[in-house]
Amino acid sequence: MQMRLLFRCFLMVGLVVALGCAKARPGKVILFVGDGMGLAQREAARLAAYGPAGRLAMDQLDQISLITTYSANALTTDSAAGATAWSTGRKTNNKFLAVGPDSASLRTILEYASDAGFGTGLVTTTTLTHATPAAFAAHVSDRGAEVEIAEQMLATRPQVMLGGGRIFWAHRSEAGSKRQDERDLVAEARSAGYEVVQNAEELARLDLRQPRQLLGLFADGNMSYLYDRLGEDEPELAAMTRAALEILDHNERGFFLMVEGGRIDHACHNNDATRAIWEAIAFDQAVAEGIQYARRKNDTLVIVVADHETGGMSVGTACYAGFPQIPRQGLYPEHGLQLDSLLCIGWTTKSHSAIPVIAGALGPGSEHFRGIKENTDLFPIMMETLGLKP
Ligand SMILES: [Zn+2]
Repeated sequence: MQMRLLFRCFLMVGLVVALGCAKARPGKVILFVGDGMGLAQREAARLAAYGPAGRLAMDQLDQISLITTYSANALTTDSAAGATAWSTGRKTNNKFLAVGPDSASLRTILEYASDAGFGTGLVTTTTLTHATPAAFAAHVSDRGAEVEIAEQMLATRPQVMLGGGRIFWAHRSEAGSKRQDERDLVAEARSAGYEVVQNAEELARLDLRQPRQLLGLFADGNMSYLYDRLGEDEPELAAMTRAALEILDHNERGFFLMVEGGRIDHACHNNDATRAIWEAIAFDQAVAEGIQYARRKNDTLVIVVADHETGGMSVGTACYAGFPQIPRQGLYPEHGLQLDSLLCIGWTTKSHSAIPVIAGALGPGSEHFRGIKENTDLFPIMMETLGLKP
């Protein structure tokens, strides 16, 4: 009898502890977006960096879905509608950011998370006000309105914002500023409690052992292509991701972080395979930071996805007329090219294509990633992982 009582007691204690643990578990989501990164871009980066038998960091995400990409008004999406699908769970028109096809504002996962006390972060290699990051923290029906988007993003107050696009934040007296009013959003950010950094060294020097709000504006417009950057003072996407994770890790409730390799798309619009491959490899190194973090903590959903494919890119070994070949010296030197032959890349468009893209996932919630999904399906999965209800 006494033994049975003791057993029950253990059971009760166990239950209480288990409940306590379940409640205390933070919700963490890192959404990695390779803008324009279709299967061919991934494969070209893999071959160039690690050779035919090698693996990218993102290949470690073994829960895989195919994701549809069409928007509310087009078979071929743009980045604005693509990012809105993840940030709000709704399909909208191309060029629209976190508003429906009727232009009515839609609440984003970043806003839900922020209001619930989570840390939030947006990291990109484009301007911060570019379509993908903007779809998480601004609501406009014209993605080109980057001056207004900067104002809205500052008002939304993501805890960490790292990217380019200083000209949309700086006072109009500063060189290159696109602002026509008297506002100085960099100064306003400082008054609101943000630390502001403007180059790789300032970012590296930050003491990240304390929680803080951080605004990094590392270029006037988009950050430069990694391929062209040698000697320049812009941080790599991996370093930006590491800094964001260190800051957001202080938040006991958890966090939502979006990291974008935003210029894979730009290089592919130019049918520029070399720069596209370098950008994809740099993006993959940022993904490696996220995976390392997730494996250490065991409580983080990591997703790697693309909004669409750009360029109608194909990868082959049989080069024929009209297919540019990538010179060996054009490939990422730190990894060394392990291919003996040249990589041949073909293109079918200078715009986006409509093919589905891959989403890979790891961690809590990753079990949902199988089969074919709509791009809008990512929103409820991420919200559920954070324990949030729309
Ligand atoms: Zn594009």
